[in-house]
Amino acid sequence: MEPFEYTAHPARVIFGSGTTQRAGEEAARLGIERALVLSTPAQADDAQRLQTDLQGRGTARFCEAAMHTPVEVTERAMALVHREDIDGVIAFGGGSTIGLGKAIALRTDLPQLVIPTTYAGSEMTAIIGQTEGGQKTTQKTLKVLPETVIYDVDHTLGLPLELSITSGLNAIAHAVESLYAEQTNPALSLMAEEGIRSLAAALTRIPEYPRSASARSDALYGAWLCATCLGLGGVALHHKLCHVLGGSFDLPHAQTHTVILPHALAYNAPAVPEAMGRLRRALDTQTPAAALFDIARAADAPTSLAALGMPREGIPRAIDITLANPYFNPRTLERAALEGLLEDAFAGRCPEC
Ligand code: NAD
Repeated sequence: MEPFEYTAHPARVIFGSGTTQRAGEEAARLGIERALVLSTPAQADDAQRLQTDLQGRGTARFCEAAMHTPVEVTERAMALVHREDIDGVIAFGGGSTIGLGKAIALRTDLPQLVIPTTYAGSEMTAIIGQTEGGQKTTQKTLKVLPETVIYDVDHTLGLPLELSITSGLNAIAHAVESLYAEQTNPALSLMAEEGIRSLAAALTRIPEYPRSASARSDALYGAWLCATCLGLGGVALHHKLCHVLGGSFDLPHAQTHTVILPHALAYNAPAVPEAMGRLRRALDTQTPAAALFDIARAADAPTSLAALGMPREGIPRAIDITLANPYFNPRTLERAALEGLLEDAFAGRCPEC
């Protein structure tokens, strides 16, 4: 066994079906008497139901959460926090809503109860990205780590197919990179392999049986494990490319992860034999990168950067930015090979096929 370091995050997790019923009691456990319930506009009705189910603790609701946590939205929510004497936040939704809850916790240290409804995984991390004046800045601080997470499979039964697949592959990308990142460790590798196995198998069933409770339950369980990998592990080339492409060309978050993951994995495969062994087991195939590509293709999710609106002439600039300030990566970053990677990703060619 190689030497390693492992620091777990203090977080309470409740998993199951119908678990949202426990939100009131879990809020009480955190000492929350006057909760602010958060959601996006699209999930305002669910947020309203949650607020009324909170056994008198649902003091106020703010349903304006938006992608990339814009600071002006956070400031509007903060005004409500002060006006209503809020003592805890309850985020109901995906990464955008959870991001708003984290932004409030960053400013106030208020406890957070989170009910995630996508597979993106922000609920298990101490990471927050915020946007101001078009600039996104990310920081890591335990202040934003949610204290309690209630996973309720029921809220994911109606998760639209494309968001299911893209946020699911976004989650798998976190686990994949934790297998070969600089801070990898054996406990995380176990979680990554199991998370990828459970979530990937579910993503192949969901297109045909979107409301299958067993597929949705396996997906959410896998998503939790993959999220834990993001929270505790490191990242590498895949995340670097996604950050560069998202930031420079305004490409959508989960879809960009979906397109890049098979290509970044194929790039690193020769340098990470042990991780590839785990991925072959988890995905039950000799060609893990092709299997991940196929999950997206089979569900008609995006498989090319062209489909996301990336201009082809942007490829050299993306490589310049990647090479100027690279993250750790197990395989040396070579311009020509990266060009090949992004050309394939642009055209939507399956790696390993
Ligand atoms: P999202 O939260 O932006 O949600 C997308 C849309 O889907 C929203 O309109 C939302 O209301 C709707 N939606 C969510 N769940 C639904 C459901 N069950 N049924 C129907 N509609 C539903 O999407 P996301 O992919 O979860 O989150 C992306 C954001 O999260 C990005 O800003 C990303 O940067 C961030 N993120 C942060 C971290 C972190 O650790 N800080 C990790 C992963 C993602």
